[in-house]
Amino acid sequence: MTGIPDILWLEEIRKEDISSVGGKGASLGEMASIGLPVPPAFVVTSQAFRRFLVATNLEDKLYALLEDLDVDNNDLLEEAAEKAKKLVYDSPMPTDLKEAIARSYEKMSRGGSIVAARSSATAEDLPDASFAGQQETVLNIKGIENLLKGVQVCWASLYGARAIYYRTKQGFEHHTVNIAVVVQRLVPSEKAGVMFTSHPVTGESLTIIEGSWGLGESVVSGSVSPDKYVFDQRTERIIDKFIATKRTEIVADGEYGTKTLDIRADRQEMQVLSDEEVKRLATYGIVSEEHYGVPQDMEWGIVGDQIFVLQSRPITTIKTGAKKNGQTATTGSADKVILQGQGASPGIASGKVAIVYDVKDIGKVNEGDIMVTRMTNPDMVPAMRKVSAIVTDEGGMTCHAAIVSRELGTPAVVGTKIGTQLLKEGQIVTVDGEKGLIYDGIIETAKPEIVSSVATVAAGPSKIITATSVKVNVSMPEAAARAAATGADGVGLLRIEHLILGLNKTPNWFIENHREEEFIQELLNGIKVVLDAFPGKPVWVRTLDAPTDEFRNMQGGKSEPIEHNPMLGWRGIRRDLQSPKQFRLQIETFKRLWDLGYDNLGIMFPMVSHPNEFIKAKEEFRNAGVDVENVDLGIMIEIPASAVIIDDFVKAGIKFASFGTNDLIQYTIAIDRNNENVTDMYWPKHPAVLALIDRAIKACREGGVEVSICGQAGSEPDMVTWLVQHGITSVSSNIDAIAKIRETVARTEQRIILEGARKNYGL
Ligand code: PEP
Ligand code: MG
Repeated sequence: MTGIPDILWLEEIRKEDISSVGGKGASLGEMASIGLPVPPAFVVTSQAFRRFLVATNLEDKLYALLEDLDVDNNDLLEEAAEKAKKLVYDSPMPTDLKEAIARSYEKMSRGGSIVAARSSATAEDLPDASFAGQQETVLNIKGIENLLKGVQVCWASLYGARAIYYRTKQGFEHHTVNIAVVVQRLVPSEKAGVMFTSHPVTGESLTIIEGSWGLGESVVSGSVSPDKYVFDQRTERIIDKFIATKRTEIVADGEYGTKTLDIRADRQEMQVLSDEEVKRLATYGIVSEEHYGVPQDMEWGIVGDQIFVLQSRPITTIKTGAKKNGQTATTGSADKVILQGQGASPGIASGKVAIVYDVKDIGKVNEGDIMVTRMTNPDMVPAMRKVSAIVTDEGGMTCHAAIVSRELGTPAVVGTKIGTQLLKEGQIVTVDGEKGLIYDGIIETAKPEIVSSVATVAAGPSKIITATSVKVNVSMPEAAARAAATGADGVGLLRIEHLILGLNKTPNWFIENHREEEFIQELLNGIKVVLDAFPGKPVWVRTLDAPTDEFRNMQGGKSEPIEHNPMLGWRGIRRDLQSPKQFRLQIETFKRLWDLGYDNLGIMFPMVSHPNEFIKAKEEFRNAGVDVENVDLGIMIEIPASAVIIDDFVKAGIKFASFGTNDLIQYTIAIDRNNENVTDMYWPKHPAVLALIDRAIKACREGGVEVSICGQAGSEPDMVTWLVQHGITSVSSNIDAIAKIRETVARTEQRIILEGARKNYGL
């Protein structure tokens, strides 16, 4: 190991240097060696890290901390990790190493460009061991002092709780694991994106490029719809272009961080890449694929007329012709994308198509089928539980099918427009609920094992603590355990209509048939499951909010009024206040739960448009014997009127408010949330929506009222960043989004603190 210098430049790195530079360093070195335009970088080698440990006498201290550590005891693990990280971070770096890093930085940055320090961990005996994602990356570093700190942050992250846990469980000796740090110039991309060097499904010689304005983060994170270009390598022509409406871009803020900007109207619809740039990118793709021998998934950025390749790794292959769910693969056309919609619930599943034209057809749906329907209804839920994926013609991200599928953990694609016409009964298809694609035949996805084990560990012991509570939405009691396993800080929305509609009888049916007690018991048992899954954490249960059309197919549904626009009709608190018997059944249920000692139960009123409705509802609770001043009663803000006069609600004594953006957006900009024809215009960050939210947050905070969000926008990182920046006190997201939202919240909070600290120090 001796003889390896402290610093290696990309151009000097060979494949066999992986134990000195880690997987990331080696892969960048290899990309540079085949002529890809990789941004300049050098690596502080793992030997430099070892020398630091020896010079500071840290080795024994670190191993003493980690030896015999019970990593299943979270408190002990966190404590040991904190101590170990502090030891590494606080110990002085040897002067000659500092100088070597400073000289290299000077050479590379020409006196101060912005760089990133990326950890690249490796094990001595297993040079290609993957520790991806466990160690830190420090972005946007400027100046040598900050860089030296950044390197030490990376080193210290070798002893993060998650990394220690993973190594122990995987049987790696802590003292054989090393860390190198890649220091790379950050490219302030004016446009950026990703590229598949061959068609990811068929393997055809088609290069698929997605790009948008600004840094690549917005394409990679999915916060914008990017342009898409398909380049045919055989004819060297662009054969397909899709120019998206790109509303926001992420750019370097000229300091140390990034910021999200709205894109000027005239650039939103503009083609991001010139035809020439598409061709040049495709050429780099071919070079990379030929070198590695398999199709690559690449990241790129462009500044002026200079293209940079930022990353190249094998596509997580989608193979064809495999067997799954006991079905035989179709032959020939098995790997075609035949239909597209919005990916509404992540996951991939294959199976036999069962077309459900209306509820009478649900009898023919078998376990493991792919249910294809115009739009799901609550009375289809029993069938939805059995199927392996759901495809609808209509709807957007907040429709019934989307909400229920996410809760069931079932992949779903909504808004395909023609699914019921195009797909044939009994046809075998594969549904990708993340990308919104449906393939003909059975498609097997290959997922690297290591990735899933890292992901499991990530969800496990190292919960990020955030000042803004991150809660979860639940609609069905059967999802409560999965929801609680996310470590969420409570339930920000429990929609009881799914529970009631699952009974297949309207509340009125129970009343007319004198079966009120049965209704109360069903409701009570369902809510109790969720309360029990979140002991000591707030659970906000929403009173009934089902549009009349959702009741129609149930027993008792015939007497539901026929409304031209149920979304604007007899739903939410307005219906409950006009149907005292129905409202009292719910209040009686809540009262019993409070009497049982569930004081974490809060009640939220939907579709409130005036404080009088809140006051009347509260009065009903008081009349039913509830100690209304000592329970949490709050409102949904989902009608613009309630956001505009939010101060009056605060005066009326609401304890909390939560933005129901699914409705707030549709009522503010007149875009039906369930209409796939206007999905493109459904715009959560429309300035008018943001203005209403901003105003309501301020008023609630001034009045000391907790203010949250439980609409779908609360599961979108971009929106959550904005909300935290504007002072929201909690967010509530879908089960599948909790991890990323918690990370988004933490990052935003840290940025706010950092900016505050910099201001204090006049930086
Ligand atoms: C909302 O409107 O954002 C909301 C959470 O309620 P629902 O989707 O049930 O209308
Ligand atoms: Mg709503």
